[in-house]
Amino acid sequence: MTAIGFIGLGVMGGPMAANLVKAGFDVTGFNRSPAKVERLVAAGGRGATSAAEAVEGADVVVTMLPDSPDIEAVLLGGSGKGDDGVLARLAPGTVVVDMSTIRPDVARSLAAAGAERGIGVLDAPVSGGEQGAVDATLSVMVGGEAATFDTARPVLDAVGRTIVHVGPAGAGQTVKAANQLIVGGTLQLVSEALVFLDAHGVDRSRAVEVLAGGLAGSAVLDRKAPAMLARNFDPGFRVDLHHKDLGIVTAAAREAGVAIPLGALVATLMASLRAQGHGDLDHGALLLQVEQLSGR
Ligand code: NAD
Repeated sequence: MTAIGFIGLGVMGGPMAANLVKAGFDVTGFNRSPAKVERLVAAGGRGATSAAEAVEGADVVVTMLPDSPDIEAVLLGGSGKGDDGVLARLAPGTVVVDMSTIRPDVARSLAAAGAERGIGVLDAPVSGGEQGAVDATLSVMVGGEAATFDTARPVLDAVGRTIVHVGPAGAGQTVKAANQLIVGGTLQLVSEALVFLDAHGVDRSRAVEVLAGGLAGSAVLDRKAPAMLARNFDPGFRVDLHHKDLGIVTAAAREAGVAIPLGALVATLMASLRAQGHGDLDHGALLLQVEQLSGR
């Protein structure tokens, strides 16, 4: 049986690890806050008290952590030389699948650090939100070597539905950055449309129903508008994380010399929402800011 070491059991990693258990993998999980490890144990997995313990004897290591520095700390360790992190503990031939959303350049350097040790490292960020993680219907955009992708495919199949190898190391993160650009812009416009409809006294639930059937229809409208209308801003996807992602988008756009005027504006609006103390709310809270700007 393939042994998986899973690090980061939060909103996404928790249900993804549980789905790997359901698919028959031998999963050992570690999370900084132990209560989340208990949930995996209750779902039939094994618990570990450190990242090192979680990856002992693993064939595949999956990471689902917040940001680039978290992944670097776990995989390379505190020294920055890569000699006291998870990578240094793995046998050659082990595969590491980082499913977090991080900077493409960091994904490339982690793949290079893995290659030096004979370890294949994939960047395999996901889209589909918490529900997609629970239902194992995530879209997975994968960067890295084709042979490593083939090895990891059964693991990816157990957590996702649309799984595409998009190119070499870092390419998965570049596609994910494009995803976050589209989702952020759409969410801002959905927020503006909801405030606009309200100001005109239109029943917004009915409006959303008909909009969803036309060209304005989208997964963002389908999955986010009902919660926004119910004023439920429990995450979901935290404003803090989308702010991090739009930082990745703007840096990568600048690096490539690409103009993203609307994306840059949405990045500013997301930063403003966060500065107002809403970092832990779902990104659907962009609605609150449009209401405030509109005096409503
Ligand atoms: P989260 O904050 O709920 O989970 C991250 C987990 O990692 C937490 O439980 C935290 O305790 C743990 N952690 C942090 N540092 C650690 C360390 N050094 N060792 C062990 N555990 C550590 O975040 P999330 O929503 O699950 O997101 C994880 C990643 O997936 C992020 O990169 C995010 O951008 C991306 N993502 C999230 C969503 C979503 O809808 N939530 C969707 C797609 C992608």
